[in-house]
Amino acid sequence: MIEVTAYRDRAVMVLGLGRSGLAAAAALREGGAAIVTWDDDPKARGRAKQEGFPVTDPTVLDWSHVDALIPSPGIPLDHPEPHPAVVKARAARCEILGDIELLTRTQNEARYVGITGTNGKSTTTALIGHLLQQDGRRIEVGGNLGAPVLSLAPLGREGTYVLELSSFQIDLMQSPCLDVAVLLNITPDHLDRHGGLEGYVAAKRRLFDLLREKATAVIGMDDAHCRTIRKSLASGVTVVEVSARQALDRGVSAAEGTLVERLGETVPAIDLARLPAFQGEHNWQNAAAAWAAARAAGLKPEHAARSLASFVNLPHRQELVAVVNDVRYVNDSKATNATATATALQAFDAIYWIAGGRAKADGIAPLAPHFPRLRHAFLIGEAMEAFAATLDGKVAYSRCGDLETALKAAHAMAQAAGERAAVVLLSPACASYDQWKNFEERGDAFRSLVLKLPDAKPVTQMEGAVS
Ligand code: ADP
Repeated sequence: MIEVTAYRDRAVMVLGLGRSGLAAAAALREGGAAIVTWDDDPKARGRAKQEGFPVTDPTVLDWSHVDALIPSPGIPLDHPEPHPAVVKARAARCEILGDIELLTRTQNEARYVGITGTNGKSTTTALIGHLLQQDGRRIEVGGNLGAPVLSLAPLGREGTYVLELSSFQIDLMQSPCLDVAVLLNITPDHLDRHGGLEGYVAAKRRLFDLLREKATAVIGMDDAHCRTIRKSLASGVTVVEVSARQALDRGVSAAEGTLVERLGETVPAIDLARLPAFQGEHNWQNAAAAWAAARAAGLKPEHAARSLASFVNLPHRQELVAVVNDVRYVNDSKATNATATATALQAFDAIYWIAGGRAKADGIAPLAPHFPRLRHAFLIGEAMEAFAATLDGKVAYSRCGDLETALKAAHAMAQAAGERAAVVLLSPACASYDQWKNFEERGDAFRSLVLKLPDAKPVTQMEGAVS
């Protein structure tokens, strides 16, 4: 745990008592702050009380004595409307910052790599962590991925924090702390929380306001929003452009699955397409960005190349769970928006597709080019009717309601068709919150249901990175 001493004997409110909120409260308490906590959910408040944290309703709190508000990244600051505690804190001119800001202020001698983008953040973060770790660096990986940052180990000047940053977390950062900042891509997501696309793009752009001196900005050039941001960066900033679509004159490209570095040194090209963890253009983008970040952190090309080959992708991302009579069962629960699902639909033919949950603003209309690959759609969750309306007349579908019913139906149909190379694919294009705690719980449920199918042959994780 990191001990946050900056607020010793001062009052701090921690708002939102999920894992990162509780870790922040513990880190501040350890450092001598006078903590009060709050969560709109009474169950979460109960957990905080059990851990000995005082709980106070922010609407009745005397804010004149509070020095800082630490909201969880899930708490709205502005859109759709600010949380009442945020309104109170602003009125009292109380500092509002997130757990990552607390980390970077406390561990200010460490190095930081921050990764953001609409899709591919976790994969790229894990990959950068893997590359640095294999090189013998002292690292901690966390943020939006895995452990809350204040529960990570203190690293001091010898270490590097590799942090996945959501746009909400970036909103709550202030100090220039990043030695390497990676922006992968931008497509519409979370628009309700950012007051529209412009706000979302601006939140991602802010990543580059957090650069330290001599930092490197790594930026994906495969979408128009990122290209615009690239143009807006000051000329003094060191920028490494990356692309999975085109061979860049200067930068790191991975077009056609061949990673090529053109930054001055002569570096042998790497055939990513033969590596199981790097199937599909989206993974080439992640690999190119991670390579650029690792090189900016000083890795030698031969070391980075060796470590790319030993990377095993994270679960829930096009994870091959089992094979039953030549039909593959793939868990892509992490695909929570249409762009992410598009990468999975592109990767397979003959798809028995399980989709639905809590829909994002653009639904599944952008997936229409992939509809011809869908043999049948099995719809679940809140989005069921909306998805049915989009598919109507174009793709055969069934209203299944829940995951278990959908898997049973998809399994029966795929097995009866007996088509080789068919895939039963959970790639929901939706958030999970209507029926699950998070995408991990949804993917774990899919995995365990699949493994209970008669004749299911489990696939090991190493073999499980598929396209
Ligand atoms: P994030 O952490 O940004 O949500 P993940 O690495 O967890 O990203 O991947 C989430 C989903 O997005 C996966 O289902 C994967 O298929 C897809 N994906 C991964 N990388 C990319 C990328 N660079 N571009 C588009 N989609 C991607």
